[in-house]
Amino acid sequence: IEARDAYTDARPGSAAIHARAREVMPGGNTRTVLFYTPFPTAMVRGEGCRLWDADGREYLDLCGEYTAGLFGHSETRILDAVKSAMDRGINLAAVGENEGRLAALICGRFPSVDQVRFTNSGTEANIMALAGARGFTGRTEVLAFRGGYHGGVFTFPVGVPVSPVNLPIPMRFADYNDAAGAAAAIREAGDRLAAVIVEPMQGSGGCIPATRDFLQALREATQETGALLIFDEVMTSRHGFGGLQQRLGITPDMTTFGKYMAGGMSFGAFGGRRDVMAVFDGHKPGAMPHAGTFNNNVLSMAAGCVAMGEIFDEAAAEALFARGETLREACNAAAAKHGVALHFTGVGSMMNPHFRKGPVTAPYKAGAEEEQMRELFFFDMLAAGIYLARRGMVALSLPVTDADCDRFLAAVEEFCAARKPVL
Ligand code: PLP
Repeated sequence: IEARDAYTDARPGSAAIHARAREVMPGGNTRTVLFYTPFPTAMVRGEGCRLWDADGREYLDLCGEYTAGLFGHSETRILDAVKSAMDRGINLAAVGENEGRLAALICGRFPSVDQVRFTNSGTEANIMALAGARGFTGRTEVLAFRGGYHGGVFTFPVGVPVSPVNLPIPMRFADYNDAAGAAAAIREAGDRLAAVIVEPMQGSGGCIPATRDFLQALREATQETGALLIFDEVMTSRHGFGGLQQRLGITPDMTTFGKYMAGGMSFGAFGGRRDVMAVFDGHKPGAMPHAGTFNNNVLSMAAGCVAMGEIFDEAAAEALFARGETLREACNAAAAKHGVALHFTGVGSMMNPHFRKGPVTAPYKAGAEEEQMRELFFFDMLAAGIYLARRGMVALSLPVTDADCDRFLAAVEEFCAARKPVL
């Protein structure tokens, strides 16, 4: 309560913005993930990995726009690409050359992707991948995992029953990281199952990495039954030049992308095997439709070519991955030193705190005390000038330095010493 009161007192500007928005938007909000009580901090400016809020407070940005902010807020090559595209017209109602260039960059680095098409978001990318898989197989059902998040209505938190009224397609569910259970579910669904969709690390579910055995079991069972395996790499594609699929050495039939790939502009993409993607080939009679006014919007396409072609190369991907691994290990060592119930899971540059002793190998429904500790962690970090996702997730961006990581580590140590989470 004290931490919340201090938060409220220090942010009259954010409070006023929220109060006005509440009159005309339910909850004063248009992105569920940015909603929290008493009101969310409103940001007015960003530069590199720094943010400034409506009350003039400065923050180290470790939220990294939930991974879409990989390049930071003022990468000059991306700004230049967007400005020069804008100078030539914002929306030309025609194909352009950048979409083919960006497609070639993506096909050239992700092992599963022979061909790709673009969307406006990761949610749409998943909708279209599932539609494509259903069209290709002639089957209807899809298997997803508890704790998974694939955007918009495709959100499946553990312990919350999924209502069929939310879902546009018939779905089955299995437990994440339960290789035998998932393989059995795939075999049981047999020739009704069009696709299995899985995050190779659950992001929203708490940065829980999939085990190799689990993904391998999915690969084998889908090959047996003829269902397509779809990796949702909307968040995890940053974990290597060829995504997490390349790092793990497991190749799905289709992959979906989003977030950072257009340099922070809105973006999504789905791609995969040439024979599967052929269902969208307009040269063929009966091709599936995939329309969308902004699918090839010139700003995202221009920014994406620079982001993927010039900036986020193999060396940049590896350096970011290594920085994240080092930070996560240091945070866990700090928690262990203090003997507290705090454990960071994750892969590379993404990590999430859990207010329990590790290891944490599967998504779970947190108890009330854990949720309270999570809230306190978020408000304590804000008070220390560090901006995280409300669930505590860290997504490092390229401008983050070792000194920034040290600052976060020191804040984690202070939290352990002051709040002493126990469970
Ligand atoms: N898939 C995963 C794994 C995600 O984490 C997200 C967004 O957080 C999405 C899909 C949806 O992407 P978007 O928010 O661009 O619709």
